[in-house]
Amino acid sequence: MTYVVTDACIKCKYMDCVEVCPVDCFYEGENMLVINPSECIDCGVCEPECPAEAILPDTESGLEQWLEVNTAYSAEWPNVTRNTGQTPADADAFKGLEGKFDKFFSAEPGKGD
Ligand code: SF4
Ligand code: SF4
Repeated sequence: MTYVVTDACIKCKYMDCVEVCPVDCFYEGENMLVINPSECIDCGVCEPECPAEAILPDTESGLEQWLEVNTAYSAEWPNVTRNTGQTPADADAFKGLEGKFDKFFSAEPGKGD
């Protein structure tokens, strides 16, 4: 198994999760982060840190799309190992919105660190 970041992260990107990951397996897109499933050691410490509740274990049903997104984009986007302050100023306005992948997903890479 692995943990995955879902679209609840899109346009929120609070980055609390990267601070606690012991194996630095987060990767940064323009407006969301993803986890590299082959690097994640399933420790679960990131899940309760996310203010957007965007991180879930892939043992939950219905997360196939997010496993694919995390796998694909963690191979393309730069690694990020600390909160680099890239949280959007209007992040709270997008917390909890439905359907963010279709409306706002960007395949562009973030800055990483
Ligand atoms: S803490 Fe949650 S919203 Fe913030 S970057 Fe991590 S997964 Fe995304
Ligand atoms: S479950 Fe652990 S290893 Fe996996 S992304 Fe979260 S903090 Fe990192």
